Amino acid sequence: MKYSNVFPKTKKTAPTGAESVNHQLLVRAGFVDQLMAGSWTLLPLGFRVVTKINEIIREEMNAIGGQEMLMPLLHPKEIWNETGRWDKAAEILYKLKDSREHEYALSFTHEEIVMDLLRKHIQSYQDLPVAVYHFSTKFRNEPRARSGILRGREFMMKDLYSAHVSEEDLMEYYEKVKEAYKKIFKRLGFEIRVTEASGGVFTDKHTHEFQVLSDGGEDTIFYCGTCDWGVNKELMDEKIDTCPLCGKKDIRTGKSIEVGNIFPLGKWYAEKMKVSFTDETGQKKPVWFGSYGIGPTRVMGTAVEVSHDDRGIVWFPQIAPFAVHLVSLPGGEEKAHVLYETLQKNHVEVLWDDRKVSAGVKFGDADLIGIPLRLVVSAKTGDQIELKKRSEKEAKLIPLQAVMSTLTGT
Ligand code: ATP
Ligand code: MG
Repeated sequence: MKYSNVFPKTKKTAPTGAESVNHQLLVRAGFVDQLMAGSWTLLPLGFRVVTKINEIIREEMNAIGGQEMLMPLLHPKEIWNETGRWDKAAEILYKLKDSREHEYALSFTHEEIVMDLLRKHIQSYQDLPVAVYHFSTKFRNEPRARSGILRGREFMMKDLYSAHVSEEDLMEYYEKVKEAYKKIFKRLGFEIRVTEASGGVFTDKHTHEFQVLSDGGEDTIFYCGTCDWGVNKELMDEKIDTCPLCGKKDIRTGKSIEVGNIFPLGKWYAEKMKVSFTDETGQKKPVWFGSYGIGPTRVMGTAVEVSHDDRGIVWFPQIAPFAVHLVSLPGGEEKAHVLYETLQKNHVEVLWDDRKVSAGVKFGDADLIGIPLRLVVSAKTGDQIELKKRSEKEAKLIPLQAVMSTLTGT
């Protein structure tokens, strides 16, 4: 894509009141736009990033048998009353009434909707297990929507739901999802800590959160520097310094961002909503249920929080909006054009800054936007090309042919 066509362009300054790093950089670089507190447009560059995040999540969900679908966002009051969450979750539920006085809520999660699907479509143990997921908008009336896109009032979530014949089957699948989540966050580029936490309004049981250590986070976690043990601070009655899992005196603490959360919900929903199946002996039993969420828009914000410098974003390559940021300076236009066409033909995603502006402006924007690899061609570079990784300081001059064959794999 040519940068001259990209909507919108970068901004010199951050919006007033933008406290968090992700808010400042994503707005300045042209990835998101704020409509009001907690409400964001994913602009074309931001949408490219979230699409890549979603694709990684989708691959791993499919790999554990998840089936993608799409559920509605406008829910009748009656379904929320079946579990009592119309009242119990009143603080975060957006409720509305139509002109005929019918009441609805905007989706803040989809357990009730999946339960309704199951009770309509499941009869016997042979219909189970079921694992379905979707990517869709969630609405939550968050009291403090400040951390940029980390906390929206309207945001994107991938939520997976699974239903099983027994607790053992649920817990076996739960572990599978936990491993899939670890894989997802590793593929996305994060170092993840899995912590135990309480289930909030979702369940009385403990749940597992996927946390990324970052000063921009709102959570505080305790974790072991030696092994995998971790817990959310909200669960700790007292300070500990010895790891309950490996016994080492290596407990650390830090602020963190929750990017995923999985819930072994058990039979509670099935009992409330009368969702049952008949087992081999013909006996009716409630289904065992779990739910599993990741917030792709929060993931994008988290990537910026943990990977940036004073000049801008430093995207992890696997979720960067483009692989290559091509900069043409006077005398290099023709070469840039050939390069641009060749890269595109070979399916290398390239953003070409073809504008008639100074080298300083182009370099500043390249740093702000944060694409992993910058290539510069000008009258000066001759048969060579200047190559610089966004994560490194030094640029190198490399023969054009060598760069092309590395990038296109030819
Ligand atoms: P938090 O404790 O941060 O409020 P939560 O525990 O209420 O989040 P879950 O219901 O577990 O959130 O949602 C699953 C995932 O959805 C979270 O791990 C996070 O990635 C994302 N998410 C939750 N709330 C928001 C929000 N307000 N804005 C953006 N993403 C969110
Ligand atoms: Mg959570």
